[in-house]
Amino acid sequence: MPHLMRTRPDRWLLLAGVAAVAAYLLVVQPGTVQLLFYDGIGLVAVIAMLVGIHRNAPSAAKPWILTAGGLGLFVAGDFGYSFYTIVLHVPAPGASIVDVFYLGGYLMLALGCAAFMRSLGGKDRDAFLDAGITTIGGAIIMWALVQAAGVPSTGPVIGRIVLAAYPVCDVVLLAMLVRLALVPAVRSGAFWLVIMGFSFLLLGDLVYALLAQGDYQAAGLLDATWLLSYLAFGVASLHPQMGRMIEAKISGGPQPLGWRRILLIGTALLVGPAVTLIRDWGSTGSGSAPLAVASALIAVLVLWRITRATRERQHAEIQLRFMALHDELTHLPNRALLRERLELALARARRAEGMVAVIFLDLDGFKHVNDGLGHDVGDQLLGQAAVRLSEAVRPTDTVARFGGDEFVVLADDVGSHEGARALAERLRISLATPFHLAGQEVFVSASLGIAIADEPDVSPEALLQHADAAMYRAKDAGRDRVEFFDEQMQEAVTTHLALSGDLHTALDRDELLLHYQPIIDLRTDQLVGTEALIRWQHPLRGPVSPERFIPIAESSGLIVPIGRWAMETAFDQLVDWQRSDDRFSEMEIAVNVSAVQLLRPNFARDVRDALSNAGLDPRFVVLEITEGVLLDDRLEALHAVRQLKEIGVRIALDDFGTGFSSLSYLLQFPVDILKIDISFVRGLGIDTEATAIVGSVIALGRTLGLSVVAEGVETEEQFQHLKRMGCPLAQGYYIGRPVSPEVVADSADAWNNTTSGLTVADIVLAEAAGSWR
Ligand code: C2E
Ligand code: CA
Ligand code: CA
Repeated sequence: MPHLMRTRPDRWLLLAGVAAVAAYLLVVQPGTVQLLFYDGIGLVAVIAMLVGIHRNAPSAAKPWILTAGGLGLFVAGDFGYSFYTIVLHVPAPGASIVDVFYLGGYLMLALGCAAFMRSLGGKDRDAFLDAGITTIGGAIIMWALVQAAGVPSTGPVIGRIVLAAYPVCDVVLLAMLVRLALVPAVRSGAFWLVIMGFSFLLLGDLVYALLAQGDYQAAGLLDATWLLSYLAFGVASLHPQMGRMIEAKISGGPQPLGWRRILLIGTALLVGPAVTLIRDWGSTGSGSAPLAVASALIAVLVLWRITRATRERQHAEIQLRFMALHDELTHLPNRALLRERLELALARARRAEGMVAVIFLDLDGFKHVNDGLGHDVGDQLLGQAAVRLSEAVRPTDTVARFGGDEFVVLADDVGSHEGARALAERLRISLATPFHLAGQEVFVSASLGIAIADEPDVSPEALLQHADAAMYRAKDAGRDRVEFFDEQMQEAVTTHLALSGDLHTALDRDELLLHYQPIIDLRTDQLVGTEALIRWQHPLRGPVSPERFIPIAESSGLIVPIGRWAMETAFDQLVDWQRSDDRFSEMEIAVNVSAVQLLRPNFARDVRDALSNAGLDPRFVVLEITEGVLLDDRLEALHAVRQLKEIGVRIALDDFGTGFSSLSYLLQFPVDILKIDISFVRGLGIDTEATAIVGSVIALGRTLGLSVVAEGVETEEQFQHLKRMGCPLAQGYYIGRPVSPEVVADSADAWNNTTSGLTVADIVLAEAAGSWR
C-alpha cells in the first residue's frame, strides 16, 4: 500500500469511486441493480461530504454545508426516480416530487457556489465581466438546445415550466462557476475538485439536453458524468486542504488577460454565430449564414484588437515594474527588489537549510571622485563598478544598488563562512584594478561587511543592518577589507536599538539635562561664556555619552525636539544668570546645532522664537555647527547660515580642521568663530605639524577677523603655549570641566583665575578683551 494513502481518505474515495463508475459503465447490467448502484454511489458521496466537513472542520463551513445539502437533494431525487421505475413501474411524470428535489438541489448548489466565492474574497471586476460574457454564451447554447428539443407545447403548464427550469438553473450555475474559477488566487487541490464537481454536473446537463431528453435511458456515459460530479464533491470535502482552498491571493489590481481568459471570451463570442449557422444549416434562402460569419469575424477582430491593447498596457506595466525595482543608473536591482529576494532566500533557506549571506559593500573615497572629477564621472564609476560586481558573482546571486556608493550582494547558498569570505574577497579584488574614466586612471577600493543568516528566523532588516555594521567595522579598520558581523557588533546593535527606543521618552521623563563648560579669554583670563553640553541620565544604564546618543537622535529625527529643548533651556538659563549675578551680565552661551536641525526649514524661526521667549539678546548667542554640514549640503547650509546671521546670532565652526577639503570654500560661509579641534591642541609642543596648524588657524583668524577657540585644553603647557601663540579663547578640562548649572556660580571665580601670568601676545591682543570676537 503506498504510504501516501494511509492517512488520505480523499485518495481512497477517489480510487474506489472511479472504480465504481467504471464498473457501473462496463459491468453492471441495466435494470434495477444499475439504478440502485447509481443511487448508492451518490449516497456515499453525500456521506463523504458530511464526514469531510466534520473531519476537516473548515473555518468557513457554510459553502460546504450548502453544497452537501444540494448534493443530498440530488441523491434524494435519484432515489425518487428509482422508486417510480422499480416500485411503481412507470416513468417519472413530467412534474413530480423528483423535480422538487432536483430543482431544490440546484438552488442549494448555486447558494453554495456563491458562498465559496464570498469566502475566497474575489473582488475582481474583470473576472465578473468575463463570467458575464461566458454565461451569455452558455445561455445561447442552452436556449438553442431547448428550442431544438422543443419544449412540449401541450401538457400541463406546470410540467412545461419545470422542463424549462432546468436550463435556466444550468445557466445560473455556469455563471457562478466561471466567476468562481476566475478568483485571482493560487489554488489548492481542493479548489480544483470543487470546480470539477460543478463542471461535471453542467457537462452532464449539457449532454442530457443534447440527447433531447427523451433518449435518456441510452446514455450510460451521461450517468457517469453526473456520478463523477458527485464523487468530485465528496473527494474535495475529504481533501486535507479543503479548509484553505486558496493559498494566497495574488496581489490585488487588475488580472492580466491570460490566454485562458481570451479563449473563454473568444468561445463565448463565437457561440451566437455558431448556433445560428448550425441551426440554419441546409435550410435554403434564409440568408443568415453570411451574417453569422460576418459577426463572428467582427467578434474575433474586436477581441484581437482589445487583446493587443491590453498586452501593450501589460508590457508598459512590466516596464514600470522593472523601473520601480531597479536602479536607473546601473540597472541593478534596487533596495525594494533586494528586500523581496532576501525574503524569498530566507524562506527557502528555512526549508532547505542553505546558507544565505548578505554582503554590504561601500566604495572608499567615492566622494573624492565625485567632488574632484564631477558627477558625470562619478556616475560612470558606479556603472562600471556595477558591471564588475555583477561579473564577480554567480548568476543566482543578486547584486543590488543600495544607495549612493553602496551595493549589497545577496548570495543564496555560500556553503560556509569561508565561502562567504571568498565571495567578498572576489568582490573586493574586482574593484582593485584601476577604472578608466574621463581619460584618466581612477583607483577606488571597497570596504565590505558580511552577515550570515545562521538563525532560522532572522529578519531581512536585521541581516542588512548586521552587514552594514560589519562594513563600518571594515571602514574603521582602515578600508579596503572584509569584516564579518560578530557578537560584539551584535551587542552594539542591540544597545543601539535599545537606546534609540529609550530616547523617545527621555525628554518627557526629564532624563536630559545640560551641563556648562567655561570658555575663557586667554588675554584677560576672564570667563566670557559657557558651552551647553547635553547629558542623558538613563534610568538603568546611568549616564550615556552624547557621542553615543546624538547620532541616534540624528538618525531618528529626535534631534529636532531634543535640540530645540537644549536651545530653549540654555537660553533661559543664561537669562537667569545674567539677571541674577553681576559677574554674568555679559556672559555668552554656545549651543551645539546638529546638521539635521540646521537644514530644517523652520530652524531659523525656532531660534528666533526661543530668543524672544527667553527675552535674550541674540548678540550673546553662538551656534556651533560642524563643517561636515557645509560640505554635504552646500546651498541649503549656506541659506540656513545666512538666515541665522540675519537674526543676529554668531556661528562657530566646531571641530575645525578635522575634515575640510578646501579652506577658501569653507570661508565662503559667514562664520564668526573657529573652534580648533582637540586633536591639534593635544599635539601642541609635541607634534610640529599639529603645532603649526594651531598657529596658522590663529593667524588665519586674525587676518579674517574671526575669533578662535582652542578646544580640549588639558594641561598647563598647552594653556601657556596657546597664550604665547596669541590664541584669543580657550576651553578644556584644565580651565574647567562641564558642570551642572548650580555649580557654575560657585566655580566662576576659580575659572576667572586659571592663571595670573600674562604673555606678550596677551598684551598685543588685549584690546579685544571681553568678547569672543
Ligand atoms: P563638542 O561640541 O566638540 O564638545 C566638546 C566635547 O569635548 C565635550 O564632550 C566636552 O565635554 C569635551 N571636552 C571639553 N574639554 C575637554 C578636555 O579638556 N579634554 C577632553 N578629552 N574632552 C574635553 P561631550 O560633552 O561628551 O560632548 C560630545 C559631543 O556631543 C560634542 O562635541 C557635541 O558634538 C555633541 N553634543 C553635546 N551636546 C550637544 C547638543 O546639545 N546638541 C548637539 N547637536 N550635539 C551636542
Ligand atoms: Ca561644540
Ligand atoms: Ca568640538
